[in-house]
Amino acid sequence: MTHRTHWINGKPWTGETRTRGDIYNPATGRVSGTVDYATAAEVDAAVAAAAAALPAWRETSLVRRAAVLFEFRQLVRSRQAELAALITAEHGKVASDAAGEVARGLEVVDFACGIPHLVKGGFSENVSTGVDAYSIRQPVGVCAGITPFNFPAMVPMWMFPIALACGNTFVLKPSEKDPSASLLLAELLAEAGLPDGAFNVVHGAKEAVDALLAHPDVRAVSFVGSTPIARYIYETGTAHGKRVQALGGAKNHMVVLPDADLDLAADAAVNAGFGSAGERCMAISALVAVEPIADELVSKIRERMARLVVGPGDSEASEMGPLVTAQHRDKVEGYLDAGVAEGATLAVDGRHHPIGGGEEAAGGFWLGPTLLDNVTPQMRCYTDEIFGPVLSVVRASSYADALGVVNANPYGNGTAIFTNDGGAARRFTHEVEVGMVGVNVPIPVPMAFYSFGGWKSSLFGDTHVYGMDGVHFYTRAKAVTSRWLDPSHGGVNLGFPVNQ
Ligand code: NAD
Repeated sequence: MTHRTHWINGKPWTGETRTRGDIYNPATGRVSGTVDYATAAEVDAAVAAAAAALPAWRETSLVRRAAVLFEFRQLVRSRQAELAALITAEHGKVASDAAGEVARGLEVVDFACGIPHLVKGGFSENVSTGVDAYSIRQPVGVCAGITPFNFPAMVPMWMFPIALACGNTFVLKPSEKDPSASLLLAELLAEAGLPDGAFNVVHGAKEAVDALLAHPDVRAVSFVGSTPIARYIYETGTAHGKRVQALGGAKNHMVVLPDADLDLAADAAVNAGFGSAGERCMAISALVAVEPIADELVSKIRERMARLVVGPGDSEASEMGPLVTAQHRDKVEGYLDAGVAEGATLAVDGRHHPIGGGEEAAGGFWLGPTLLDNVTPQMRCYTDEIFGPVLSVVRASSYADALGVVNANPYGNGTAIFTNDGGAARRFTHEVEVGMVGVNVPIPVPMAFYSFGGWKSSLFGDTHVYGMDGVHFYTRAKAVTSRWLDPSHGGVNLGFPVNQ
């Protein structure tokens, strides 16, 4: 049994906790440890540590900050397998997928290592006679990150590397379901030379989040999670005068046009629908098949689904692991019968898929890959974000019909089109109302030097995470207009300054 606690001021917290939560191994269904839940007092201590570390860290040179991140990058790389194992043990995803999430998080660290270049401002000489103007970007102060269960390493790494590189200090509130990865990241930051207090972790749930949102010393909040909570974080954080970016849930469509390579499309639909048991904000959950290819595509997908190996994430053979909790598995499973009751066809019922792992895995939170066909946009299995291994097939009569389905959906995170027609793909990327688009790429998570974010109910706020949007979110711009004494510019003039 492990016991996880907060990381405050460069070390584990040693106080007495009032509340604890259980940590589960989703592959066995058994409790594997406990995690302390923060009250306002622990949040205060973490924010106080971050506020105390801020003056020295923001004055630390850009080159030194980058050096800490370079060191951190090496340490994470050398402990990648260990981090992945922690993720698998608490989240359930298979080891290769967990290692992949660490690798994608590291790309943001790579990007943040370039901070001396990224925060360069502009300079204009002689904007008025003898007057120069320039812009600089400065840290906002203590920043908070509140993150979801499904990427316990990558999503925090979307945030803190850039926030720290920009000269801020940070308090992370990771998901209470899989808290361990964040603590190893905290240790590695300390080992890399980050000063105590510059990075802190508080665990817990709503009480901890609310304390962060109301804390006067927290200047900016980055959130990733479900849409109802994202909306709440945005409204509450901004009401407290904070800068907030809140990324929400998703319903990602993959449109397959009749001219597409159907084998490639079937592979992609299975990979993007069932990887990480569908618990990815960029998972494909709605396949929009433009007739007349739906029957053929569904049959190719069914063949592939039957061969998927479902089992514990720490087994080399497993391609898909369990869901994160029993409650979540039950909720996802509930959409199968509900979908049928609403008129969908249960083309593949994941409840009958073989599960590996033997006796040990008998109590795990399993649901095999599931395919609902003949789904219409009115059905609850379509309107809700299911966030599990359930792929819904919506049949469309034309490109325009398919585009209409995607654009009418309230979410706008990711989408993909599969086609060999460059003109159709170009038109789709132009017309679709979604933040991240893939052309023959089913999970178009942008590289670290672009930014990640959706439209509509998938994002509240103005900036996306990481990339230059991240640099802008974690800094404030200042424009300076300067004139060095020149006797020719003397004299009293009460008029508004204009260029001369
Ligand atoms: P969640 O919204 O339940 O939790 C996210 C965070 O908010 C956690 O740290 C949690 O402790 C906290 N939280 C939960 N309820 C709260 C409340 N009532 N008040 C204050 N804080 C609260 O999300 P989850 O189940 O951990 O993650 C899955 C969701 O995240 C899915 O909806 C998925 O689409 C979304 N997600 C989105 C993205 C994206 O980039 N848009 C990325 C990953 C996950």
